[in-house]
Formats: sequence, structure tokens, C-alpha cells
Amino acid sequence: MEIALVGIGKIAVDQHVPAIDASPDWKLAATVSRHGTVDGVPAYTDFTAMLQERPEIRVVSLCLPPVPRFAYAAEAIRAGRHVMLEKPPGATLSECHALEALARAHRVSLYATWHSRQAEQVAAARAFLAAAPLKRLEVRWREDVRHWHPGQDWIFEPGGMGVFDPGINALSIVTEILPDPIHLTTAELRFPENRQTPISADMAFFHPQGAEVTAHFDWLAEGAPEWTIEAETEAGYMLLEDGGAKLTIDGAAPEAAPPGLTGEYPRLYAQMAALVQAGGIDMDLAPMRHVADAFTLGRRVSVAPFHW
Ligand code: NAP
Repeated sequence: MEIALVGIGKIAVDQHVPAIDASPDWKLAATVSRHGTVDGVPAYTDFTAMLQERPEIRVVSLCLPPVPRFAYAAEAIRAGRHVMLEKPPGATLSECHALEALARAHRVSLYATWHSRQAEQVAAARAFLAAAPLKRLEVRWREDVRHWHPGQDWIFEPGGMGVFDPGINALSIVTEILPDPIHLTTAELRFPENRQTPISADMAFFHPQGAEVTAHFDWLAEGAPEWTIEAETEAGYMLLEDGGAKLTIDGAAPEAAPPGLTGEYPRLYAQMAALVQAGGIDMDLAPMRHVADAFTLGRRVSVAPFHW
């Protein structure tokens, strides 16, 4: 299937282009971006023009930041295209619900991707927790924003989510691996006094069986990042590290999974191909709901200004 990639920035170049190039399902047939291009691929700067001039391209993958993404997604759906959304799937929950309704009305596929759910050991962690009553789960997601998002001012603007931009990846894993639904009970969000989004946050959740569930996000952690989820259960101690790539249970690695597609983005594109073929919609908004709850319920604390 021919696909157009929209918003040729960091994640498009780092992950989407190589995943599409390596996929047997997809051919990158066009890009749309005001500044970015991909060698050898017809480039457009105007999305409407691409949709009109290239009717054979049935699928678009949107790699823009969340705030501008809605208008592009709605236009693509109205033009009868299937749409793949980078995470988070929108700037607000209402936008996401509106896109889903629009996709149903136009009978096209819509995929809210959560790349971290495709990390190597997430499925094994889910399988372990399915049969391991939970006592405590703690998320520690700490990285250096200057290293991972150099100069990306949109993440500090309204809708950019701040530290929840990476934090929502952790929440996408938690909501995938926990068999029980959780919901936020308290949060503290720390906003640099010159910015619109938090630079660190702590969250605590209600768990139906009374387990202690917390998450800690920090964007000012220099050095090696920590992307860890640890769980104490009645069946042992689970440590999921490196953003879901490494798993140990009581210090030992689980049995290797049967060979399959490797890499988060190759798996996302395989899922999108299956979704389009089946005419399906996959719009799980659980990670986004927790972030929205944190902005609704969280205590707001003003901290030192942030400069790049
Ligand atoms: P980015 O490089 O800052 O932006 C991607 C591209 O979007 C830009 O190059 C720009 O292309 C276009 N764009 C930006 N603002 C726009 C606007 N107002 N209107 C139209 N186009 C605009 O961001 P990114 O890091 O790739 O992140 C994009 C999305 O991927 C985010 O939702 C992010 O959470 C997600 N993501 C990022 C990472 C990562 O490591 N960076 C990892 C996983 C997921 P032009 O200027 O050429 O139009």
C-alpha cells in the first residue's frame, strides 16, 4: 500500500522512514512537510494539494506534534484516507473522540499508535502480571529533555504535555500490562515559571485490589535515562527496564518469545496494515485519560525557569 508521511521531523526521520522502507506492506509514496523531505520521495508542502493530486495514496501517517495534528487528521478522513496517528493521538480527549466518530462516519481506519506498547518485553510483562496479584507498582521515567527533545519548544506550549510527552509512553505500557483498571487519585505537577507545561510530575493511582501504584516523571535527569516499571507481586518481583525492552522476574530473564517482527515502529506499521485490511479502528485513549486527569486533579507547583 502506498502511504504518505506528514511532518518530517525527528520521529519521522528516526523511526517512521526506516520502518516503512523495511516493511513488505508499505511504499513511501509522498511526504508533506514545510521544511523536511526524504530523499527520492515526492515532497509536498501543502497537505490539501497532496490529497487532491495523489488519490491513489489511501493511507496517511501523521508525525506532527499533537496540537496541529487534529486539523490534518480530520481533513484526511474527510478525504476518505485511512489515518495513523503518532502518540499522543490528540491534544485533548474530545479531539480524539471527534476523530473516531469522523472515521466511523467515513468508514476509514484510524490507529492511535502507542509505540512503547510494542517494546520487546511488554507482552511478556503483561503475561506475567495476568497471573500475579499485584502488591505495588512504581514507574520511574527520568530523562534529560535537552538531550531527547533539543529545542522542541512545542512541548512546553499548551497541548505539548511537557514531561507527560515521554511519561505517556510509560502510562501506555502500564495500561497495557495491568489486568485491572486504575485511576488517578493524586498528582503533583511542577511547571517552570516561564513555561506552560510541567517539567516533572508524580502520580498516585487507585487500584481495585488495593495495590500501591505510583508514577514519577522527571525531565531534568542528566546522564543515562531511566525508563523503568517495577512491580512487587505475590508471584515475584518484576523489573521492566529500558522502556519495555528488558524484563526480569526475580532477577532472571523470562523464556525468549518466538521469533517475530522486531522493533516498535515495524510492529506499528504491521498493525496498521492489518487494521486497514480489516477495516478496523484502534483508538485506545486510556494513557491519555490519565494525563488529562493529572491536569484536572493535580496540584500545581511553580519551579525555576527552564532554558534550553
Ligand atoms: P518535531 O520534530 O518537533 O516535529 C515534527 C514535524 O512536525 C516538524 O518537523 C514540522 O515539520 C511539523 N510541525 C511542527 N509544528 C507544526 C505545525 N504547527 N503545523 C504543521 N506542522 C508542524 O517533533 P517529533 O519529535 O518528531 O514529535 C512528533 C510527534 O511524535 C509528537 O507527538 C511526539 O510525542 C511523537 N514522538 C516523538 C518521539 C521523539 O523521540 N522525538 C518519539 C516518539 C514519538 P515542518 O516544519 O517541516 O512542517
